[in-house]
Amino acid sequence: MSKDKRHIAILGSTGSIGTQALEVIKSQPEKLELEVLTAGSNIELLAQQAKKFKPNAVVISDESKYEALSEMLKDEDVKVYAGEDALNQIVGIEAVDIVLTAIVGYAGLKSTMSAILAGKTIALANKEALVVAGELITSVAREKGVDIYPVDSEHSAIFQCLTGEIYNPIEKIYLTASGGPFRGMKTADLKNITKEQALDHPNWSMGAKITIDSATMMNKGLEAIEAKWLFGLKSDQIDIIVHPQSIVHSIVQFEDGSMKAQMGLPDMKLPIQYAFSYPLRLKSDFKRLDFKYFSQLTFESPDPKTFRNLALAYEAMDKGGNIPCVLNAANEIAVESFLNDKIGFLAISEVIEKCLEKAEFIAKPSLNDYIDVDFATRAMAKELIAKES
Ligand code: NAD
Ligand code: MG
Repeated sequence: MSKDKRHIAILGSTGSIGTQALEVIKSQPEKLELEVLTAGSNIELLAQQAKKFKPNAVVISDESKYEALSEMLKDEDVKVYAGEDALNQIVGIEAVDIVLTAIVGYAGLKSTMSAILAGKTIALANKEALVVAGELITSVAREKGVDIYPVDSEHSAIFQCLTGEIYNPIEKIYLTASGGPFRGMKTADLKNITKEQALDHPNWSMGAKITIDSATMMNKGLEAIEAKWLFGLKSDQIDIIVHPQSIVHSIVQFEDGSMKAQMGLPDMKLPIQYAFSYPLRLKSDFKRLDFKYFSQLTFESPDPKTFRNLALAYEAMDKGGNIPCVLNAANEIAVESFLNDKIGFLAISEVIEKCLEKAEFIAKPSLNDYIDVDFATRAMAKELIAKES
């Protein structure tokens, strides 16, 4: 990295990735500087972060919280804005080099697009943006000469393995999956799963939505689609392998048969930092892996018959067009409904499957098409859920 610091905007700073990104920035004062913080509605934490990190500006998406946030920050030298337009504008300010997209779900799509259009380097955590509109996002990024660095640990692993391999095509990648809390269970065992059980992930502490996606294996399906767009792959080049220890973060296989893997303890701070510092590795005090405690690393095939979301995601990836957008919208509503005790664990896949069956295919959707498809699918999923309950 040059002597200059990298100036960072964190979209979704109050979440799991956002707060870990702040720890990374705090630990690298010579190299990284915070410029912008944004959050959905948690003004208490946002104000606390602003007082500590002294950014240039903060944005709260929930406009009704603007007055209260301004009051909390009245003695600080920080600009306070609210609403979606402010979020889409703030990513373009000159002071920012890198935008970390750490908003969860479809809600992160427009701000990701805005940051790309403004020519900012993207550290991408918001995988749903690529699932919904991967073709559009990657083509606009290419046009604008914008780099997208992955933050998702599996994709960061692949990205790290590709260093120095510019002339060597990928034959295949293996995305590793922990298998979540219900690994090895069959459909009958999953019938009466509670949200408390589903929220109890064995290896990673994350936001609620991605934790449920990990329990249903939808997370790995979304990651397969994310990998397709990040690395320009076909679905038969993307394999999922269950690796319960979460030490091997993913593997690339090259055309000579050689495989490269990236390993380490499960800690999102490492991929976040790498996306900020690429191509350099910054010295860190992250806990090191000690093989004495991991004498066995195991690998097994996933079970898409039980964890149907995985099969549904591959089906959506193969169909392409607007279908992954349908998959994502139906999943977001189904997960939210599961978290609100409106549907059971197994109904998550049923809602998604029905929405996919009813979807009308659009081969080359525009941004407006995605917005319409997302809207219509949410309505459809809610209607299906209301009918069942
Ligand atoms: P989270 O729920 O902990 O945090 C989400 C953040 O987004 C919060 O700051 C929230 O205020 C903001 N937000 C939510 N809805 C919003 C809206 N409508 N408008 C504006 N802001 C909004 O989520 P997370 O676990 O940090 O995940 C963030 C993203 O990173 C997700 O796309 C997830 O798939 C991805 N990711 C997370 C992890 C992890 O370890 N948590 C790992 C890999 C990828
Ligand atoms: Mg991941």
